[in-house]
Amino acid sequence: MLIKRRTKIINTNGLHARPATRFAEVANKFNSEIFVKTENKEEVNGKSIIDLLTLGAKRGTELLITADGEDKEIALDALEGLVNDGFDEDSMETRKGIAVSPGVVIKDAFVLESEGFRIPRHLIKEEEIPKEISRLEEATKVAWEEIEKLEDRVSTNLGSEIGSIFATHKLMLQDKLLLREFTKKVEQHRFSAEYAVTLVLRVYIKKFESVDDPYLAARVGDIYDIEKRLLRNLLGEKREELKNLTKEVVVVAHDLSPSQIASLDTTKVRGFVTDLGSRNSHAAIVARALGIPAVVGLKTATVDIFGGDRVIIDGNRGDVIVRPDEETIKEYQLIEKDFHVFEEKLTSELKDLPAVTLDGREIMILGNIEFPRDISPNLNQGAAGIGLYRTEFLFLGSNESPTEEEHFKAYSQSVQELGDKPLIIRTVDLGGDKFFPANSNTELNPFLGCRSIRYCLEHPDIFKSQLRAILRASAFGNAKIMFPLISSLQELRKAKDIVNEVKEELNQKGIDFDEKIEIGIMIEVPSAAMVADDLAKEVDFFSIGTNDLIQYTMAVDRGNEKVAHLYSPAHPAILKLLKMIINAAEENNIKIGICGEMGGEVEYTILLLGLGLREFSVAPAMIIPEVKKIIRSVTYERAKEAAETVCSYDDPAKTIEYLRNIVREIIPELVY
Ligand code: PEP
Ligand code: MG
Repeated sequence: MLIKRRTKIINTNGLHARPATRFAEVANKFNSEIFVKTENKEEVNGKSIIDLLTLGAKRGTELLITADGEDKEIALDALEGLVNDGFDEDSMETRKGIAVSPGVVIKDAFVLESEGFRIPRHLIKEEEIPKEISRLEEATKVAWEEIEKLEDRVSTNLGSEIGSIFATHKLMLQDKLLLREFTKKVEQHRFSAEYAVTLVLRVYIKKFESVDDPYLAARVGDIYDIEKRLLRNLLGEKREELKNLTKEVVVVAHDLSPSQIASLDTTKVRGFVTDLGSRNSHAAIVARALGIPAVVGLKTATVDIFGGDRVIIDGNRGDVIVRPDEETIKEYQLIEKDFHVFEEKLTSELKDLPAVTLDGREIMILGNIEFPRDISPNLNQGAAGIGLYRTEFLFLGSNESPTEEEHFKAYSQSVQELGDKPLIIRTVDLGGDKFFPANSNTELNPFLGCRSIRYCLEHPDIFKSQLRAILRASAFGNAKIMFPLISSLQELRKAKDIVNEVKEELNQKGIDFDEKIEIGIMIEVPSAAMVADDLAKEVDFFSIGTNDLIQYTMAVDRGNEKVAHLYSPAHPAILKLLKMIINAAEENNIKIGICGEMGGEVEYTILLLGLGLREFSVAPAMIIPEVKKIIRSVTYERAKEAAETVCSYDDPAKTIEYLRNIVREIIPELVY
């Protein structure tokens, strides 16, 4: 038998998009049929967001909720509780993502998904409502006309079947109910036309995305498209663009490429969150280098966060707090301050002290950089040099490959700035997830394709011009060459042959360079780890690239949030490979370091130390004092013991817990 409950809407904005979504979400968890009615509206289906929105129920409206079915009692309890709690509407939401760049920031959101349009939650005056509605009507009309022209053009060029894709867009824009929803948002809530469009369409996007039907899921793209078109028409010249921000914001985006992040104006963009991504993608690495807090892999950040929402990004823990209350803001302001005080104290205490264990084992801590401008922050934190210079970022923003002179300028200035400290210049590592205008992605599996050293060997002109520049710069300081992604001895020999050819050319021209320049390789492919003993005989040093080594060993895409939980430096297979590589280097008397992100993750410092590493190249610069603090707080013997212990574990979680406990004992503030 059917049961009923009466309850009153108490949240400020009534049953608008977000509460309706929450109501329908909760209702859909139960098998019972749920209906909702207000005094002057027909009963609607409580499981349908759109139906609920048609009630237009404002604050103070009484809702009559009925339920019929086996779980009707608990369904009504849950729904009544939700309404009584104001749909959690005015309360904040905390989202858990993947922490990729430390620090805390509190700013308004700039949502990039609407083509860089910033849509603040803007309220208009009562008397502006008619004007706002006519703006909406005009924008819709113009959008419809634009699509019609597009349909004609595409049909003529590509055939009517392809052109008909746009017919769907036109139909959506003609949908009277949709337009009514837009205008209702303006009339009832006094939202601006732009905000009304975003609000309504985001509800549909969320609805379509949650449906397990590929056809409906594909419609999401159509709705995004319509949103962009309407917003472009509504905002016209007024739109705020990422390149032209007038105030400090945090950027919320579906995804950001390494080159997009590298070009962010960090005086305005103070942090970012993305739906996609994971800790070891190049995008995350660049974010860390920029020193702005970032959390990725939030899946639905662009749907849940609206432009203008206040957001707290806690890049230490991976938390994103949307629409925080005053108390939480105050709490995070303190955390933000403490974080900076702690970092500054550690730097000033340790900057000029050597990285040496309690029993006297000397370690080198170097920095990883993407741009020469990052050298000075590293030196300021006490870096003993640069252990990885990712030179492919020289390709940023240019449609052409950099010239030899551009390479030379970057390297010669850098070595001079470093004095006698080393600069390990990695030859360009294009491909994988690094595409700039000067190269493009045409492969199905770019991480397994013509990436990195393979690309250089395929393009000897690009490779040689970089090598010439590195060699010329070596006359001015302590430069070293490092090849990425070496997977066989033959590949290494080919690369070295090209270095020798270039040396020969320079000699013939009487150009100065360091004849004894060291050549090293990154060990980042399992096959290279397996033949490390042979490779070690033909190079001066190894640097372990754990970011790729883990990805290729475990078959886990380093940039994919869906499999990020499977990506673990503590996996026994990775520990075995690390031991194998370090042993091969030691037996052949060559230097060995690490430049993957694992080297800068403080929970692994003791393990790496205990495995025998003497060189850590880390990022961001601010992590240098932290790694140094740990090194200076343990004996090598203790680190060896710890490494032996965790190498006997078969469970990565146990390894991490064990290592964290040691760090917690040394510097509790470092373990979040
Ligand atoms: C690595 O793979 O560990 C590495 C340092 O190189 P990148 O992150 O640039 O691929
Ligand atoms: Mg790599």
